[in-house]
Amino acid sequence: MEVQNRLIKYCKFNTQSDPNSETVPTTASQMEFSKILKEEMIAIGLQDVVLDDLGYLYGTLPSTVDYEVDTIGFIAHVDTAPDFTAENVNPRIIENYDGSDIQLNENIIMKITDFPKLEKLKGNDLIVTDGNTLLGADDKAGIAEILTACEYLIQHPEIKHGKIRVGFTPDEEVGRGAHHFDIDGFGCKFAYTMDGGEVNFVADETFNAASVDVDIKGFSIHPGEAKGKMINALNIGIEFHNLFPKSSRPETTEGREGFTHLTDMNGDVEEAHLHYILRNHDARKLELQKEAMGLAKDYINKLYHQELISIKIHDEYRNMHEILKDNPEPVNYAKQALIEMGLDVEMESVRGGTDGATLTFNGLPCPNLGTGGGNYHGRYEYCCIQEMEQAVSLIIKIAELVAGKE
Ligand SMILES: [Zn+2]
Repeated sequence: MEVQNRLIKYCKFNTQSDPNSETVPTTASQMEFSKILKEEMIAIGLQDVVLDDLGYLYGTLPSTVDYEVDTIGFIAHVDTAPDFTAENVNPRIIENYDGSDIQLNENIIMKITDFPKLEKLKGNDLIVTDGNTLLGADDKAGIAEILTACEYLIQHPEIKHGKIRVGFTPDEEVGRGAHHFDIDGFGCKFAYTMDGGEVNFVADETFNAASVDVDIKGFSIHPGEAKGKMINALNIGIEFHNLFPKSSRPETTEGREGFTHLTDMNGDVEEAHLHYILRNHDARKLELQKEAMGLAKDYINKLYHQELISIKIHDEYRNMHEILKDNPEPVNYAKQALIEMGLDVEMESVRGGTDGATLTFNGLPCPNLGTGGGNYHGRYEYCCIQEMEQAVSLIIKIAELVAGKE
């Protein structure tokens, strides 16, 4: 089956994950979809196809050579983001896109002025939504590309490659995709998550991440008699927050600049709570951001001569570059493959985390590759068919390069 037809077929299954669910996977629909994928994997000739009780689906493409080659893996996630509705996804192909604004439906237009990246896709074929749902190319494009590459390799046994493992996970969008991944059973020297944007981008970096809970105690008294007595916890919270520069917020940073982001603030005169996430590609700088939280707390407490503020810092995930810089093989193969395909390699520092980052720290080096999609998690999501075809070629090329090493 052609890669775009796979994507269109998969998009029609609503496989949204749910951050409020305690089950694994978080939604039953993911398991239902993975059962269908399992049948497809068996039908195209993959071996050892296993769907476990937690919704993790694995398969094997056997080696075509009689010498030892490192086993490598390709991973994608079956769920779509809970941010936007995924019910009744109705994908449409725009052939030979003319580079102008795209009318998704009567009321919704995808404008070049809002999404200037679209201009680069002029002349390509795009898959878009009907404006009412997300598309789900994140990450069903990844699944479509991995299975299309496997099918091609099965039909072309003359292409030399080692053993290739395939893994499809649930619940990536709610941060749990790597939690139950069977790294030992997967048995790969390294792997790739097929879960990025443009196909020529190789991501070997994620943020380092921490979060901070700030608790503030105030002193409540009738406002009519409050002079010199009331301590309004909300005002203390504002004072605390204003100690951090505007220049280190998500809305004022980009590229490899980190940020300190107030995600939640609530409370009353008596007590208030602030929640921050801290992000930086540079682990040393993240430590400084954590330190600044403590200094701000001390400053306010000294100013008021009492312990009004207490903070708790939680470490979350780490930048996978820490590990990948000492294990450059997977990144180098991906770069070489893209160069041989005639594409300009761009290295990407992801402004977030990936499942690959967690897998990398758990012992499976796992950079992230592009799938050809864009504007994820919303109604303007799209996928470029030519880039999907290139992603299929990229998977095949990497497999060939790894086998060519002998
Ligand atoms: Zn994704």
